[in-house]
Amino acid sequence: MSEQEQEQSDKQKYEFRKVIEELKGYSGSGTQLVSIYVPEDKQLSDVVAHVTQEHSEASNIKSKDTRTAVQDALTSIKDRLRYYDNPPENGMVLFSGAIDTGGGRTDMVTKSLESPPDPIESFRYHCDSEFLTEPLEEMLADKGLFGLVVLDRREANVGWLKGKRVEAVKSASSLVPGKQRKGGQSAQRFARLRLEAIDNFYQEVAGMANELFVPERHEMDGVLVGGPSPTKDEFLDGDYLHHELQDMVLGKFDVAYTDESGLYDLVDAAEEVLAEHEMLQDKQVMEEFFKQLHDGEKATYGFDQTRKNLNMGAVEQLLISEDLRKDVVAYTCENSHDEFELVDANASTGDHDCTRCTATVPAEEGKREDAIDHLMELADQRGTETVFISTDFEKGEQLLNAFGGVAGLLRYSTGV
Ligand SMILES: [Zn+2]
Repeated sequence: MSEQEQEQSDKQKYEFRKVIEELKGYSGSGTQLVSIYVPEDKQLSDVVAHVTQEHSEASNIKSKDTRTAVQDALTSIKDRLRYYDNPPENGMVLFSGAIDTGGGRTDMVTKSLESPPDPIESFRYHCDSEFLTEPLEEMLADKGLFGLVVLDRREANVGWLKGKRVEAVKSASSLVPGKQRKGGQSAQRFARLRLEAIDNFYQEVAGMANELFVPERHEMDGVLVGGPSPTKDEFLDGDYLHHELQDMVLGKFDVAYTDESGLYDLVDAAEEVLAEHEMLQDKQVMEEFFKQLHDGEKATYGFDQTRKNLNMGAVEQLLISEDLRKDVVAYTCENSHDEFELVDANASTGDHDCTRCTATVPAEEGKREDAIDHLMELADQRGTETVFISTDFEKGEQLLNAFGGVAGLLRYSTGV
């Protein structure tokens, strides 16, 4: 993925996250919120037929309120589908329903999300008191690609961990004889044959892993190896794996089973290492930020300062807290001074007093925008890379709480 594509997809992910968060906040008083997942290869005429069918079945719903709500939601979705000839790349998700707004009132909400980061695998029609957002959330979870190997002396499985999904790909079982030798065999000869068989099996397992992982090694984030001791140790110490894969081994883990279920156990056992790995880039960036803050001149923080530096084209990396939920309101006073005010998302605002000439700009003249959209737009125009920083580690939390959720690493010192 090119840097530009990466940024495009970060931005898209952010947009998706915002919509999902909004949808998750809604509930219906009855089973009346409809979510429809449409794969790319689904005929939209089939989707319309399905929705029409559900609409007619909804006439059997006893509660009049729920019945009306479901039918309205389905009509809304049908209307929305008219805008499309075919599902977009990776498919689309439609949400519609009458949500509770308190005091027995409802509000009709209809949203569609196109082209999610991963393809939608199968058609899903879901009607509940909440919208179905989990499949989309899983797609948005930070992605990693890890090679998995579990083995003992009897069997082995290799597969992938893609994001949160484990995929078993290949397995092998060995002909390694048990520890009991047959009568008439010399103990020495038996031991030698057994070691040979073990060695052969390790080679076979490594061959299987190499074949699967080596072509993908530049896309991979690491390799995890699991099994009982001493098998996994012998396997790793013996350098059976391709040397580039060997260098990517993030750790070895005790796992009791080496069938397919062992791959899942391996991922569980490696949980901490995986979490650590996921935050590696975030941590490195924040380390650099603090270093520049204390000993250098190439750090900026806070919305106003960072924005100024961005505007000058001086920001190399824009750091935004993943949990920042702010709007920016832009005011232009009668003397053409442009000023920005950062407010909580969806919070109401009062009149703005220009800090440069004290002219007052009435609240309704403020132009409101999501703060992250605003900053990313500027970053795009100036060739600045945007990095979203998780709040799941101390310095990431500090970015949100102590630095206003926005900071930047500068290309050069600006004195701003
Ligand atoms: Zn002014």
